[in-house]
Amino acid sequence: MNLDYLYERAESGNGLEPYEARELFDRLNRIELPYAREIATTLREDQIGDKASLYTCLYISNECANACPYCSYSSSNKELERRTLNLEQIEEEAKAIKKSGVSNVILISGTLPEGKYRDLIIDSTKLVKSLGLNPWIEFENLSKGTIRELSQIGAEHFLLFQETYDPEIYRKIHSKSRYKNNFSRRLARGSEAYMDGFPNIGIGALLGLQEDIGLEIKSICEHANFLKEIGANVSISLPSIKGSPDRRFRRPKSEDIEKAYITLRMALPNVSLALSGREASNLRDRLFPVVDLIGTGGVTSPGGRTLNFDQKKSQQFPLTDRRSPNVIKSVLKDLEIEVVDDLVRGN
Ligand code: SF4
Repeated sequence: MNLDYLYERAESGNGLEPYEARELFDRLNRIELPYAREIATTLREDQIGDKASLYTCLYISNECANACPYCSYSSSNKELERRTLNLEQIEEEAKAIKKSGVSNVILISGTLPEGKYRDLIIDSTKLVKSLGLNPWIEFENLSKGTIRELSQIGAEHFLLFQETYDPEIYRKIHSKSRYKNNFSRRLARGSEAYMDGFPNIGIGALLGLQEDIGLEIKSICEHANFLKEIGANVSISLPSIKGSPDRRFRRPKSEDIEKAYITLRMALPNVSLALSGREASNLRDRLFPVVDLIGTGGVTSPGGRTLNFDQKKSQQFPLTDRRSPNVIKSVLKDLEIEVVDDLVRGN
């Protein structure tokens, strides 16, 4: 399978088979990237239009019962200053987000026994909705009843990243994580959330957990195709490891991150692609024409926007692109990309 054949297949706008996406990722190189980026940009314009939505994370707690070795929130990190926000503090954070002009709010935290934060998650979702923001839900151990209740309140986006689609690597990494040690269970959660009322499902891989990014690309295409077939709108995120306490896990080269996004756009032209503020600004600028969900204005410690403390002691990882939502909007305007409130595509 040569590159010209894969380009031709992608340019038809009908996407690529997962094995072709893997082949494309493996064959793309620095010389080919600009041409591939042009194809990906045209596909985005044709199938999604010149539109993007902004999102940001609202961490309600940095306490966690899991022990992921690449994460500062790991229960084994005794240095981290732990904090769970109360509803009033969450409201202040949500108001600060509203003021910044970002409309999609990922409610997120470390993982706790469900009973410890269920009510707070539900109340936070109601609160975020009442402020005219869109709550996106990213918690990994919620029961069916809670998921249903959240969708009945009006939450429409459920996110859960598999992190790695290699079951063996997953098993090794998560053997000590109480709520994360079942690969198949986690894989099924997106479709279950769809069945329980969430029309939009976010999936993703954490780049840097393993070297074979092509395998992650192939698997994520298969996962996305499955979710699309059952009727879900799908968004895909490929955040790269940042600030891992365990040095075995390293950030991939920015060229590989760029290749991964371009490959996904060519393979899945009408699926939403999300780009995190953890990536560098120059890489993000090159990828803005390819993606359609853009992280901005984030902080990774609970209360980081409104409380006064040393964020380095309580954050999950440092963000790289620290440009404000207004600056990002003006960069997008220069690219003739219109910012809209809620854009998730997938079918
Ligand atoms: S990645 Fe998530 S589950 Fe794992 S330690 Fe960090 S916050 Fe906890």
